[in-house]
Amino acid sequence: MNSTLQSFQMLINGAAVDAGSGRTFESMNPYSGVAWALIPEGTVEDVDAAVQAARAALDGEWGQLTGFGRAALMRRLSRLIADRAEDLARLEVTDTGKLYREMAGQATALAGWYDYYAGLADKLEGRQIPTPNPNYLVYTRREPVGVVAAITPWNSPLLLLTWKLAPALAAGCTMVAKPSEHAPASTLEFASLFAEAGFPDGVFNVVTGSTRETGEALAGHPGVDKVAFTGATRTGRAVAHAAAENLNSITLELGGKSAHLCFPDADLEAAANGVIAGVFAAAGQTCMAGSRLIVHEDVHDELVQLISDRAATIKLGDPNLPETEMGPIANAPQYHKVLQLLKVAADEGANVVCGGEPDDEQGGYFIRPTVLTGVSPDATIVREEVFGPVLAVYTFTDESEALRLANASPYGLAGAVWTKDVHRGHRIAASIRAGSVWINGYRAVAPSVPFGGIGNSGIGRENGIEAIDAYTETKAVWVELTGGTRDPFTLG
Ligand code: NAD
Repeated sequence: MNSTLQSFQMLINGAAVDAGSGRTFESMNPYSGVAWALIPEGTVEDVDAAVQAARAALDGEWGQLTGFGRAALMRRLSRLIADRAEDLARLEVTDTGKLYREMAGQATALAGWYDYYAGLADKLEGRQIPTPNPNYLVYTRREPVGVVAAITPWNSPLLLLTWKLAPALAAGCTMVAKPSEHAPASTLEFASLFAEAGFPDGVFNVVTGSTRETGEALAGHPGVDKVAFTGATRTGRAVAHAAAENLNSITLELGGKSAHLCFPDADLEAAANGVIAGVFAAAGQTCMAGSRLIVHEDVHDELVQLISDRAATIKLGDPNLPETEMGPIANAPQYHKVLQLLKVAADEGANVVCGGEPDDEQGGYFIRPTVLTGVSPDATIVREEVFGPVLAVYTFTDESEALRLANASPYGLAGAVWTKDVHRGHRIAASIRAGSVWINGYRAVAPSVPFGGIGNSGIGRENGIEAIDAYTETKAVWVELTGGTRDPFTLG
């Protein structure tokens, strides 16, 4: 074992533990290209133990807490996150190569997510429901779904975990989380805050593994009641099949191929800035990346010029430095996937306005911000999610064509419309088939605003009051009021 690497442990039933196998795997720093951490190589037995612990917590002290009690613990967790935000952000930067300035913001914002859902935990009210038969009082109770399996990707590990965990805790659920093998460290470190915040053992558990084995075992585990997944569409399909075997409900946050629609009356400077934010922030490694720009032919050249001028000055480098604007691609498989898609785009006739190649001066997995024009709406680069800093640009002539092109995608996660015409802005927002649409903006999220996709982008919504529904079951309670007897052979 290499003693210079930082070691992490899993959390099962309140204890920091090594994998039952005794084995570990290395996590890579994509900026330096070298291994920096040792992560437990969890097994199916570890997943079993974590699910059992989550079940026991549900049946124990945690299950007896009121929403007020859960809210108090969540607020303590929120304060600990705020205190530790810098450490957590540094871990995410080291593991993912994303910018410190972005991850520090995300880590600080996490606290707000737990505060928001703490505010809902004590407001999970049922209803008193009238029925045609006056002899009954009927009311509903909002009860936790139970043990939640949360499977997360590498691009924003703690934020995407939090989108599941905060509403799940508010609802009274327990959780077993399985972070990505490419960026597991921050989730393992975060787990240590639970004991400090005073949560009972087993409410939150984390298992890790370098292969699909732990994720597969968790998604299909018969002791799990709900599966919440963020990741690739292909994996989401496998997770959905596994959950269906147990007739479990699912939330899936999957990929995207989101479109910016830019009209000739738009503030082109603002649109260029929004497109840059949408596709080059986080090196394009966000599910909501605005990777298609569908622009009116009259302003195509001017907008492409503005975007490519700015793209050419984006500062690539060490993600820890404040002046860096784009870090590396987060891991080797993803880096090679982006390069392969660039090659296919070139073969299919795309015109490279800027970028289009690796930045070898940097070392690590850097790819220059890329703007491709002259692409056909049927091109691979228009249809497939890249998950990298690559913008595909094509044109429209009228509003109906713009909408047809925007909606010609199996994905439906997000989109944007750039126009100064308020009527058109709302009209287009209503017609884009996606879970989120920004008018004259991009890449804004909040704990209070539902987020999720349609089509190949997923099932269900995270964030907002809606997310609580995904973690609660409604129980109807019938109270017989007369104390008498009735005809036992009739209904009602
Ligand atoms: P991935 O699907 O490869 O992995 C996601 C997680 O699933 C990892 O923890 C992985 O270990 C696990 N996993 C892999 N195979 C599994 C299986 N058969 N059963 C259960 N778990 C399994 O995704 P990734 O490469 O980590 O992330 C990139 C993808 O995530 C992109 O497609 C991106 O669009 C998507 N994403 C979506 C959102 C969103 O909110 N919609 C957010 C971030 C990322």
